[in-house]
Amino acid sequence: MNPDVIVVGAGAIGASIAYQLTKAGVKVTVFDRGQVGGGATGASAGMIQINPDRTTPAAVSALGVESARLFPALVAELRERSGMDVGYRPSPLLHLALQAEEEPSLRAHRAWQADHGIAVSWLDRTAALDLEPSLNPDIRAALYYPNDYQLSPLVFARALARTAVDLGAMVREGAAVDRLLTEGDRVVGVAIGGEHVHAGEVVIANGAWASAWSDALHTPLPVRPVRGQMVALRTIGTGLRHVVSSLQGYMLTKADGTTYVGTTVEEAGYDARPTAAGIAGLLALAPRLVPRLGDATFTAAWAGLRPGTADGRPLIGRLPGWQGVTMAAGHFRDGILLAPITGELVADLLAGRRPRLPVDDFDPGRFLVRAA
Ligand SMILES: Cc1cc2nc3c(=O)[nH]c(=O)nc-3n(C[C@H](O)[C@H](O)[C@H](O)COP(=O)(O)OP(=O)(O)OC[C@H]3O[C@@H](n4cnc5c(N)ncnc54)[C@H](O)[C@@H]3O)c2cc1C
Repeated sequence: MNPDVIVVGAGAIGASIAYQLTKAGVKVTVFDRGQVGGGATGASAGMIQINPDRTTPAAVSALGVESARLFPALVAELRERSGMDVGYRPSPLLHLALQAEEEPSLRAHRAWQADHGIAVSWLDRTAALDLEPSLNPDIRAALYYPNDYQLSPLVFARALARTAVDLGAMVREGAAVDRLLTEGDRVVGVAIGGEHVHAGEVVIANGAWASAWSDALHTPLPVRPVRGQMVALRTIGTGLRHVVSSLQGYMLTKADGTTYVGTTVEEAGYDARPTAAGIAGLLALAPRLVPRLGDATFTAAWAGLRPGTADGRPLIGRLPGWQGVTMAAGHFRDGILLAPITGELVADLLAGRRPRLPVDDFDPGRFLVRAA
């Protein structure tokens, strides 16, 4: 029997949409050409942070605030339904000023954020070291964000998918969608090799690969891959209690005791390899922020492709000129944070309800150059 809705892509975004739709009684099939969470989602740090700056579109900040608010209930729901613990826990951020020259801009950043409702305070060197004693004692100061969280992004995506399956969804891994099936101005399903699967609605949630459908839909969908590399280190003794960041990168200790150090932001096309230069930069950064990491064991390196957009806003909503297709891609550096709200917004749109937050700023048709 055909599903009501097909979701293309089982990253955090596709899995969240599948979960919300299934919970609402919709019959969903998700296709992923790899595995659940095997794209950018599994490569990510899993930080749930609200940390905008002057360049962050206001609509994206609002989305982040609302999504962060949804996590506690969602995580509890997933634990109750699937028994899976996604590792959601407080993980306050310390953003370090390593040199005196960085202080004025950090003070201005703090003032701007405080004006915009962000809980952030200025710590002098001693106060920062009191909170996280293994910091480099030569730091100048730090911004402290007490309300941030983290989770395990791969487990999060798997828990969403598993719970959706338990509620009746179908998740097909190793199933690459090659083509959208169309009839006139309506998307009616997808082709996976020679197999055709029809549905009333198709949701495009295949992250950095979403631009693949631009030609078929005669609409520019300029989502591009932006590579981010990460290394994992294992230390003896307790890990970091905070996310520790600087202008050059960040680090955080995950629930299994591994410390992740990230990240690069690179235009490297669809090349998802960690590189010698990328890893070398991250390995050099770690002991500059936390000297004892110079003695850590290097355990792994990887890279993921973030779905970036030209204007820093995701594409969420129905595609103008088409029926039966909805976009949910382009969440760039915030796709884990934004997964809960994106799932809810897409469920609202497909049910014909007014979405709980305005989605006009995320209109996937905004890159169309319309004839005058
Ligand atoms: C190093 C790094 C650190 C990050 N840290 C954070 C963080 O701390 N917090 C945060 O909020 N965000 C973070 N991000 C960003 C976040 O990972 C992404 O925004 C998010 O994972 C995007 O989710 P997605 O589901 O849209 O894409 P993806 O997770 O990439 O999922 C897309 C899926 O689509 C599948 N697919 C592609 N084409 C097809 C096809 N034709 N048919 C079927 N399936 C297909 C892929 O196999 C993939 O599984 C980080 C990213 C990186 C790389």
